[in-house]
Amino acid sequence: MHELSIANRVVELVTERVREAGPGRVAAITLRIGALSCVHEDALRFGFDLVREGTPASDAELRIVKVPVTIWCAACEREFALPDVRKFTCPACGVPSGDIRAGRELDLEAIELTDEATAG
Ligand SMILES: [Zn+2]
Repeated sequence: MHELSIANRVVELVTERVREAGPGRVAAITLRIGALSCVHEDALRFGFDLVREGTPASDAELRIVKVPVTIWCAACEREFALPDVRKFTCPACGVPSGDIRAGRELDLEAIELTDEATAG
C-alpha cells in the first residue's frame, strides 16, 4: 500500500513545518490529489490514521481536494476536464489528446495550525 508511505511523508513534512513555526498543533491538512496519481483516498485516510499518532498532526482534519484530469485540445484551443480518465479524447470534438495539463498532482497544499492561545 503506497498510500501508507505517502501518509508517512505528509506527516513528516507537516511535523517539520510545525517545528519551524514554534509550539502548536495542526488543525487541518489539505492535499491535492490528481485523478492520475493512483492514490486511493480511502487508503490514504487509513494510512494517515495509522501514522499520525503521537505527532502534532494527531488531531488534524485531512482534507483531500481531487483534481480532475485536464487535457489540452489543439483543435478547440482550450483545456477540458475529462469525464473518463480511460479515454484521452476531447469531450467537445473527439480528437485524441495526450497533452495532459492536470491530474497528476500529489501536493501538500495547505497546513492550518491551531492557535494555542485561543485553543486553550
Ligand atoms: Zn477539441
